[in-house]
Amino acid sequence: MRDVAPQERGDAAGPASGSAIHFDGVSKSFVLSGGEHVHAIDNVHLRVPANQFVAIVGPSGCGKSTLLRLADGLVAPDAGRVSIAGSAPKPGPGIGMMFQNFRLIPWRNVAGNVGFALESSGLRRAAIDEYVQKQLQQVGLARWSNHYPAQLSGGMKQRVALARALVGGPQIVLMDEPFASLDAQTRELMQDDLLALWDRQRPTIVFVTHSVDEALMLADRVLVMGGGRVLDDIMVGLPRPRIPTDAEQAGPYGQLRRHIWHRIRDLVMADPNSAFFGRTGSAPESGIR
Ligand code: ADP
Ligand code: MG
Repeated sequence: MRDVAPQERGDAAGPASGSAIHFDGVSKSFVLSGGEHVHAIDNVHLRVPANQFVAIVGPSGCGKSTLLRLADGLVAPDAGRVSIAGSAPKPGPGIGMMFQNFRLIPWRNVAGNVGFALESSGLRRAAIDEYVQKQLQQVGLARWSNHYPAQLSGGMKQRVALARALVGGPQIVLMDEPFASLDAQTRELMQDDLLALWDRQRPTIVFVTHSVDEALMLADRVLVMGGGRVLDDIMVGLPRPRIPTDAEQAGPYGQLRRHIWHRIRDLVMADPNSAFFGRTGSAPESGIR
C-alpha cells in the first residue's frame, strides 16, 4: 500500500500531468455474425502531444468510439501500434473515461463511484478519500457525496462521471459524447467546468462529439473522421473563452465551423447507409450540431 498517488496517476493539485498518445499505422476490423468484415479503423497515424485537448467529429459509424477504445487499451489493434507516453496503453487509473450514459454503480454513493477507479491502484483508503473529496469539491458535489445515483438529476450524474474521470489526475482522459444526453444549459455549464478542470489538471483529452460547435468551443484541435480514417486535422487556435456570437460566425470561428460542417455533410451524403445518401442540397445543419 502506498500513501502517495501511483506513478501512473499524477497529483490532481500538482503540475501538468498529461501524456502523449501515438497511433502508428493502426487498423482494427470487426467480424460481423454473417462473416462480413468491418474496417472500423483503417491505417491511422496520429500524434496527440501531452496536455492537448483534441475533439473528434464525424458521422455515426466512422470509428470514433473504436479509436477511443484502442487508446484505453481495451481493444487491441490488428495492425500498427498504439502508445501512451511510449508504452502500450493499460486500462486503469492512469486513464479517465467518460461516456454519454453515466455508467454509475447504483449501489455505491457518489464518493464510492468517484473513488472506484482508484481502488485498484494500491492507494491507501485515506489517500483515496482525500482525492475523492478534493475532486468532488472541484465539481461542486462535496455535499452530495453520500447520495446515491438514483437520487441525482441527469446533470448531477454526469458531474459525478466527470469527477470519476478526473479523480487523482489521470494522464489521459477519453470522453465519448459525454454531454450528448444533457439539456443545452447543463451542457454549457459542464463544458465550462471541463475547461476549468482541464486547465487546472492538464490531462491530455480526446473528446468525441456529434457537435461541431462543442468541438470548436472546447478543443485545441479538431479531427474529422470518416470511414475509419482521420480525414482532416484542424488546429483551432482561437482565443478562449470562445463565445460563438453572430459577429464571430462571420469571422474565423464561423469559417472553421462551415469548413468542418461541410466536410461532415459530404461524408454523410456519400454514405450509402445514410438517410441523406445522394442528396445534393443542404442537409439539415442542426442535425449535426
Ligand atoms: P462511431 O463511434 O464513430 O459511431 P464505432 O467506432 O462505434 O463508430 O464503430 C465503427 C464501425 O465498427 C461501425 O461499423 C460499427 O458497427 C463497427 N463496430 C464497432 N464495434 C464493434 C463490435 N464490437 N463488433 C462489431 N462491429 C463493431
Ligand atoms: Mg460512438
